[in-house]
Amino acid sequence: MAEICLRDITKRYGTQEVVKSTNLNIADGEFMVLVGPSGCGKSTTLRMIAGLEAVSSGSIHIGPRDVTNMHPKSRNVAMVFQNYALYAHKNVRDNLGFGLKVRGTEKSEINRLVANAAKMLDIEELLERKPKQLSGGQMQRVALGRALIREPEVFLLDEPLSNLDAKMRVHMREEIAKLHASTGSTMIYVTHDQVEAMTLGNRIAVMNAGEVQQVGPPLEIYDYPTNIFVASFIGSPEMNMITGVFTVQDAQKTISCGAISVTAPDTLIHGITPGDTLVVGLRPEHLTVSTDTNGFTVTVELVEQMGAQTLVVCQAGEQKIRALLDRNDTIIKGENVRLNINPENIHLFDPESGKSHFSGVV
Ligand code: ADP
Ligand code: MG
Repeated sequence: MAEICLRDITKRYGTQEVVKSTNLNIADGEFMVLVGPSGCGKSTTLRMIAGLEAVSSGSIHIGPRDVTNMHPKSRNVAMVFQNYALYAHKNVRDNLGFGLKVRGTEKSEINRLVANAAKMLDIEELLERKPKQLSGGQMQRVALGRALIREPEVFLLDEPLSNLDAKMRVHMREEIAKLHASTGSTMIYVTHDQVEAMTLGNRIAVMNAGEVQQVGPPLEIYDYPTNIFVASFIGSPEMNMITGVFTVQDAQKTISCGAISVTAPDTLIHGITPGDTLVVGLRPEHLTVSTDTNGFTVTVELVEQMGAQTLVVCQAGEQKIRALLDRNDTIIKGENVRLNINPENIHLFDPESGKSHFSGVV
């Protein structure tokens, strides 16, 4: 069993609290992604789990063991870093086997395990090469192999794909997903890339400024972001945020901001009275070209053909709006177009706390 429990873990550097009283349970065999902007405390959290940083307070359990004060070597975790951290003067075979060798594993057993790992990661042809004779993707495979070969209970991966080009990143993402499926190990994966988080995680923990903002399966976070930060961070292009005022006229409930007005979703407006200010969140992919008089008019400023979809950047008064439209919609730069959204897809947030009006439901 390698369930991981973080209880109230805090990390302070001097007076700065970079990880703030964090609680997180990661189930045995789960793929958990920690995602958030640079500097939010992801690596520090991972390094505390690995034992590379001491916690300032709180405790860490792996399975039944309290590992809070345990040496990294005794925790039975393996960590994979962004910069691969391979031994430059050793060939791939020795890089893979080195950890086993220092622990006194028999040579024949090392050979067997190296062969297995090399096969699994498709690097059998590279065993005699030195790191400098490898591409970025190949080096990352070796780094993964080195972690894998130790058969740890827990894999910790810190931005392992950041140094790869876009195509290799997608490819390695699939490889890591397969590796997780075939080993059944508990994995914690750190990234600042929300696409990576969405595609890899069984669950995602979204972090900001040392605090976990929301934990849940990727689609739950996408559908029910708990606050403005999570709503803006998850999803690409970013959710449009518009500050508007709630009005009711002839039983018509509307939220208006200058040139933009949307129908207020009935399910989200409990406790809101006319005149209240709200932040309205509209995902670019939920906006469509209006086929009737519904919606609001915008002026098209930029059209980017992306293939199946077209990203359109528009202006409505002071407000910039991004919409991801069907490629068959005829959108012309400089012209006006009416955009519409299904009220079910509208998000509402409190302008002061930033909290979602869904928070009470989820
Ligand atoms: P992330 O991995 O999310 O980008 P980090 O966990 O590396 O963020 O860093 C979180 C914060 O802690 C940052 O503000 C960083 O500057 C600070 N920090 C990290 N390591 C140290 C250290 N050894 N001493 C002082 N501050 C640090
Ligand atoms: Mg980091």
